This record gives sequence, structure tokens and C-alpha cells, in this order.
Amino acid sequence: MEKINTALNKLANTGQFKKRYDHLKDEVLSDPDIVLYLNENSSTVTNEMVEKSLVKLYEFTTQSKHNCEKCPTLGECKNVLKGYQPRLIIQGNSLDLQYDMCPRKAVDDDKKKREKLIQSLYVPRDILSASIRDFYQTDSSAGRMDAAEKATIFATEYEAGKKQKGLYLHGQFGVGKTYLLGAIANELAERKIPSMIVYVPDFLRELKGSIGDNTLNSKIEMVKKASVLMLDDLGAESMTSWGRDEVIGPILQFRMLENLPTFFTSNFNFAELKNHLTFSQRGEKEEVKAARVMERIMYLADPIHLDGKNRRH
Ligand code: ADP
Ligand code: MG
Repeated sequence: MEKINTALNKLANTGQFKKRYDHLKDEVLSDPDIVLYLNENSSTVTNEMVEKSLVKLYEFTTQSKHNCEKCPTLGECKNVLKGYQPRLIIQGNSLDLQYDMCPRKAVDDDKKKREKLIQSLYVPRDILSASIRDFYQTDSSAGRMDAAEKATIFATEYEAGKKQKGLYLHGQFGVGKTYLLGAIANELAERKIPSMIVYVPDFLRELKGSIGDNTLNSKIEMVKKASVLMLDDLGAESMTSWGRDEVIGPILQFRMLENLPTFFTSNFNFAELKNHLTFSQRGEKEEVKAARVMERIMYLADPIHLDGKNRRH
């Protein structure tokens, strides 16, 4: 930049260029942001400094500075440094530009950071913009207020390592069970607490496909050890004894022993889920196994019945 500046200054003294230079200078000096800056700094900024820094000042006038006013989106940012906006500073006896992160990039970075904290397996990403406040403000029947209150307590009080019970959200299809999980995950992410939402039917399907390859165990381990685990739609799968005894059971057992918080959503209440887990009425044994899994769920989470209208269209 310095080179261009010196070159410009030299050229300024020759006919046509002098005209252009004067024009550039007029343009710069009539820019409202420059006028404001020079007024505010009139005691330190001299005419000579302005002359010397004209190229910088010109660059300043061309950039988007006020809430990204010249850029349609962050991706289409037109500034020299994408996502950064200039500020005038005094550098020795000339003026220079300092580039700071623009508001849009700051919001975008923040969102990316938060999303990194929420691992979601097979859950629609739009659920991750959910908030607990929206959950109860759109419908505030008793069960929903209770759920929102408990969700808020968890999301604001949970600390890694602390023993805190999760929730078992049950109710009809479309009442916002998954939405509430997303809202909790979001609020945890704001406190830098990672969580993992897993859509159970797809998870079991994927695991079944990995039997025999070496990814099966690591997939189960990852879910087992998630800081905060949310098992979405338990009971919507066609549960096999393998899924119950080799996947869900051991995951819950581990989490119980390690005091790792676990949330569930289901269309079934506890009695219905127990029945679902028994799946085969062939004998005593299946009932005992179903009961064992149920005990773990009840240990890990408090049940809340969610009512309300079906929000799916
Ligand atoms: P469930 O898991 O109980 O079957 P969902 O959580 O998937 O229901 O909610 C159904 C639909 O309604 C989803 O598209 C979800 O994004 C939307 N939804 C649920 N609760 C709210 C809410 N409070 N505000 C806005 N959208 C909501
Ligand atoms: Mg759901």
C-alpha cells in the first residue's frame, strides 16, 4: 500500500493525474464517515496525515462498515477481508485501517461453534434452532409448563460430572418432544456443554448394518459416553432382543454407573414401553429383560407426559 501511496503522490503533480488525485481527495473528504472521524480527531489528525493516507482513506470509504450494509449476505461480503470491517486508526503520523470482525461473521462463528457442540445423529438440523421459551409460549398447558420448567432447570444447572436426572418425554406424535430435546441441547451448547441427540430407529438400523464390520463397537461406545445423551423416539423401532440386550441395555447400564445424564422421548408411557420391550410373549425371560431395561430408564429419567396439538402438517 505504501508503494501505491508514494506513486500516487508523485503522480499527483502531473497534469491529468493531479486532476484525478484531487477528485479522489474530494470524494474521500466528502464521505460522511471520514468527515465524522476527522471532526472527532481534529486535534491530532493534520492535513499532512490525511494527504499521506489518502489511499487508506479511500479504501475505508469503499468498505461495508455499518452492520454489513453493503453486503447481501456473509458469503457475498464485499470487503477486502471477507467478514471483517475497517476502522480508522492513527499509526505514527499517518492514518491506517484496522480490520475487526463484522457482526454477521461474529453471529455466524458463534452459530458454528454451538452446532459443533451438538452432535445429532439423524435428527433434522432445524430442530437445533428450537428454544425452551418458544416451546411453552406457543402452548402453555400444565404438562408443557412442567416440562419446560424441568428442561430449564437442567439446561441452566447441569455441570459436567454432576449427577442430574434426565427427562423421559412421552406423548402423542407431533406434540414437540423432539423439539424440546433440541431446545435443551441448544441451551446447553450456549453454556459450552456438548450433547448428542440420537434418533433411535435409525441408530439401530445403522448398527445392524455394521454387524460384522469393525465400526459397530465404536459406534456404540460413542453414544455410551456422550456427555449428555438424548435418545429420540425410543419405541418407534422394531425392537429386537439384540437391540434391547446388546445395544440399549448396555448403553443405559454404563450411563447409570457413570452418572451421565440421559433424556428420552417416546410415544409410549412407561407401561406401554415395557410392553414393547417384552415384544415376544414367549416366556418369562423376555419379561425379565424388558423389566431390567425399564429399571435403568426409570433410574435415569423422570417421566413427563406432554400433551398439546399435533404440530406436523
Ligand atoms: P414429536 O417429536 O413430539 O413427534 P416434534 O418435536 O417433531 O414432535 O414437533 C413436530 C413439528 O412441530 C416439528 O416440525 C417441530 O419443529 C414443530 N414444533 C414443535 N414444537 C414447536 C414450537 N413450540 N414452536 C415451533 N415449532 C414447533
Ligand atoms: Mg419426535
